[in-house]
This record gives sequence, C-alpha cells and structure tokens, in this order.
Amino acid sequence: MWASGWQNHTCVSFTSVEVFPVMQGPRPVVLSGPSGAGKSTLLKKLLKDYENIFGFSVSHTTRQPRPGEVNGKDYHFVTREEMQKEIDAGEFIEHAEFSGNMYGTSKGAVQAVQAQNQICVLDIDIQGVKNIKKTELNPIYISVQPPSIEILEKRLRDRKTETEESLQKRLTAARVDLELSKEPGLFDLVIINDDLEKAYSELKEVLLEEIKKTEESRKS
Ligand code: ADP
Ligand code: 5GP
Repeated sequence: MWASGWQNHTCVSFTSVEVFPVMQGPRPVVLSGPSGAGKSTLLKKLLKDYENIFGFSVSHTTRQPRPGEVNGKDYHFVTREEMQKEIDAGEFIEHAEFSGNMYGTSKGAVQAVQAQNQICVLDIDIQGVKNIKKTELNPIYISVQPPSIEILEKRLRDRKTETEESLQKRLTAARVDLELSKEPGLFDLVIINDDLEKAYSELKEVLLEEIKKTEESRKS
C-alpha cells in the first residue's frame, strides 16, 4: 500500500503507509537541508568523533557514485529497476525522486544501525522528512542550511561533483527546500552552516542528551 506524497516541478515522492516496526534503542537523527549545505561534512565529523555512538543509515540511490564514494558505505548504488523492485516488495521506509535520481531509506538500513544500539543518522531530503513524519521512527529533525543561495552555489561548484545541468537542478531544489523548511515545527533545529566549527558545535549540543544516554546504556 502506498500513499502519494506532495509534488512539485523538481520532485515527486511516495511513502509506505504501513507502520515501520521500530526497535527499542536511542532516538534516530535526521539531517536534511539543501544539497551542498554541508550535511555530509558535518556527519563525517560526527561519525569520526563518536564512532561507536552513531551509525549511518546507508541509503539506496540510482545516481552514479562520485570519486571516493564506496558502495555499501556511502550509498547502495543500484539501478532504477533494482530499486523499484525492492520498493514494490515493501522494503523501503521512504523514497523520493531528487534531481533526476531515486533515493530511499530501506528498513534494513535503519535496522542494521539500531541492531548495534547506535544512534541512527539519516541524511535525507525534505520529501524524506515529510514521509518519515508519517512513520513511527520519531527522530530528531535537523535542517542544515547555507548562509545564502550564492554561497551554496559556490560550495557546489567548488565541490566539483556536478555537471552544469545537475548543479542547476540542485539549486532549484535548494530554493524549494529553503522555502518549505520555514514550515513551523517541521524541524527541531535549523543550523546555518556558515562557520563549520560553530555549526558542528550546535549539532553536538542538540545531540548531547542522546549521546550521554547511549554512553550510559553501554556501561550498564
Ligand atoms: P551536502 O552533504 O549537504 O551536500 P557537503 O558536506 O558535501 O554538502 O558540503 C558541500 C561543500 O561545501 C563541500 O565541498 C564541503 O567541503 C564544503 N563546506 C561544507 N561546510 C562548509 C563551511 N562551513 N564553509 C565552507 N565550505 C563548507
Ligand atoms: P547527493 O546526491 O548529494 O548524495 O544527495 C542528494 C539529496 O538526496 C540530498 O538532499 C540527500 O539528503 C538526499 N538523500 C540521500 N539519501 C536519501 C534517502 O534515502 N531518502 C531521501 N528522501 N533523500 C535522500
């Protein structure tokens, strides 16, 4: 059973209406925000500093791997056919079309992290946020945003991962994302990633309670 999500000119999404069986354990964390805002950069720091505490929910995607990206670690890189088959089999919590490619969180990705009693971190777009809100996952929702669209564009260009076409698609999606992110209550915290260290401190601060709880549960 699938419920239609909202749609606009850059994206369309769906989510399962069945209740995702949530395991006991620490509260997951959702990091969202425009492509190029700095989610992966912040996440990598967090996963390095708290190796045992956080675990990354490895999404599936149909986009091509970037240089350095590892299959099964950064993403499960799959074909559209493979992904659609797994979606039809009910194996995804949420999935969305972003900038011409499919992305999605499988039940297995979240369960693999929760089975380690780690805080599961999901890096998903705003359609994913809206769809996860319909499930029982109950994460902390954080939006990472750039100081301005101009700075976002510069960061995306400097990252050298996009063609001009995909860059323009991402900028269009970013404008939509920044607009929709203003919805009151959608995010528990919005971090403006201007200075990286400051942004990272804000991220750690909001997660401190969950980090402490997880560390304590390890001792008992
Ligand atoms: P996202 O995962 O949100 O798409 P990235 O983490 O890949 O974004 O960051 C996009 C680019 O911006 C990367 O090249 C990264 O090194 C750079 N970047 C991230 N945060 C900052 C910052 N605070 N100041 C300057 N550059 C940054
Ligand atoms: P990128 O191609 O830059 O890795 O990711 C593009 C966008 O897709 C980012 O906004 C990222 O958060 C989002 N994304 C990555 N994985 C998922 C996922 O599993 N579900 C959804 N909805 N979005 C995802």
